Amino acid sequence: MVSMDTLVSLCKRRGFVFQSSEIYGGTGSCWDYGPLGVELKNKIKHVWWRDFVQRRADVVGLDASILMHSTVWKASGHVDHFTDPMVDCRECRHRFRADQLDETSWTHYCPATKGNKFTIPPGEACTHCGVRRSLCPDCGKGELTAPRQFNLMFKTFMGPVEEDAAVTYLRPETAQGIFVNFENVQQSMRRKLPFGIGQIGKAFRNEITPGNFIFRTREFEQMEIEYFVNPHDTVEGRPADEYWHDRWIEDCLAWFQRYGVQEENLRLHEHDRAELAHYSKRTADLQYRFPIGWSELMGIANRTDFDLKQHAKWSGKALTYFDEERREHLVPYVIEPSAGVDRALLAFLADAYREEEVRGEKRVVLRFHPELAPVSVAVLPLLKKRDDIVRTALAIRDELSRRFTTVYDDTAAIGRLYRRQDEVGTAYCVTVDVQTVGDPDKGETADGKVTIRDRDSMEQIRVGTAQLDAVVGDLLGGKLWGEVAAQVGRA
Ligand code: ATP
Repeated sequence: MVSMDTLVSLCKRRGFVFQSSEIYGGTGSCWDYGPLGVELKNKIKHVWWRDFVQRRADVVGLDASILMHSTVWKASGHVDHFTDPMVDCRECRHRFRADQLDETSWTHYCPATKGNKFTIPPGEACTHCGVRRSLCPDCGKGELTAPRQFNLMFKTFMGPVEEDAAVTYLRPETAQGIFVNFENVQQSMRRKLPFGIGQIGKAFRNEITPGNFIFRTREFEQMEIEYFVNPHDTVEGRPADEYWHDRWIEDCLAWFQRYGVQEENLRLHEHDRAELAHYSKRTADLQYRFPIGWSELMGIANRTDFDLKQHAKWSGKALTYFDEERREHLVPYVIEPSAGVDRALLAFLADAYREEEVRGEKRVVLRFHPELAPVSVAVLPLLKKRDDIVRTALAIRDELSRRFTTVYDDTAAIGRLYRRQDEVGTAYCVTVDVQTVGDPDKGETADGKVTIRDRDSMEQIRVGTAQLDAVVGDLLGGKLWGEVAAQVGRA
């Protein structure tokens, strides 16, 4: 598995992710997506939206505002319950989440070895003296304070007056924007249960210990669906909410695998009673084997009728659904698949990273699914001194960029250009050479064909420029390289 340091350095060097406000020393808890990072992120969001909202007849979309009425957060329980237990080190003043203290390695001055300093792996005891961590994991010296509850919401003021009445919060999850619009969406779109509302958007949490690159940040993006079901229905002999919960777990697992995440790096984690949120009947996390170890990639919760009932209570609006068959008003149950865009990006990145040996040389390659590759096609001229080759390559870039993310690069020799594109996961390279344009001095006529190189197999095929758009479209639309190569013939 690739290390986090390798990913952080690749991301900075190749324009995926930069530290926010870096010239001022950075924040450590926020990150900026560079030119390639924003393409990758947009593509993840695009395929998620397409697969879970547009292609499903039972899901519609929403884009709610980040700032909401402050009572939303009272009703949802966030004002009273969205807290983490926090402890401080009395010596170095570092802050930690009390429930995560033993999840990181810890510094230890071992009395059995004359006070030598050791870094002990997470949750383990010192092999010399057998002691477990009791002091600050960072400095190894300070006592820790008793845990205090710390609310993770960012407080702000709506309007020009900073007074208590104007207090509101940056949303800590996108879900509540969906719940408060349940009736608007259901009625305007004439929806019958079961149906879902999907949303992608920013969320903010004042995490006590942000870190591990983009895994845990204070500003992040979520892709969430609230799937409303009739709790009195049964499907295949099971209560509808339980049936749909399992279906969503399967669909989410399959989705990550479809876009290239290897099966052995994904697993399910069922919350036990102690872990279960107060509103949840059952929650299963989809975990990924991140460079920091197995950690939550997304959660799929059965939130029951908790949220709609709470908003009904606080707003005075009914928020019920009329079941015509049974002639009764009911409050739907909700299944919530909730994924982090940034964590998904980190998982796709870590999973795609490979170091390979090609003809005695190391090749770093990001084997992204073609639809996720930040650059779909790179157009490369074989000789940058030949005007006709450069002109043709630029014209091809211009044509392809109408449909695909396309770049042009002529700043190095072809071998190095290929390696650069491999390192950022570009799906296909199109090369324009002398044969493409011909060489009148040598009496060679143009064949009007270019080579397409496949990133993963490094195989090449030769196709006419007139066919190029269609062939690239096939490849990015899911047709296998082998199939296309068999049709047009390998170069
Ligand atoms: P964790 O236990 O890691 O704090 P959570 O259980 O609080 O996460 P949820 O409230 O279930 O997270 O949020 C749904 C998803 O949003 C998470 O699975 C994760 O992908 C993403 N997410 C939550 N908090 C953060 C964060 N601070 N930074 C980046 N992504 C986040």
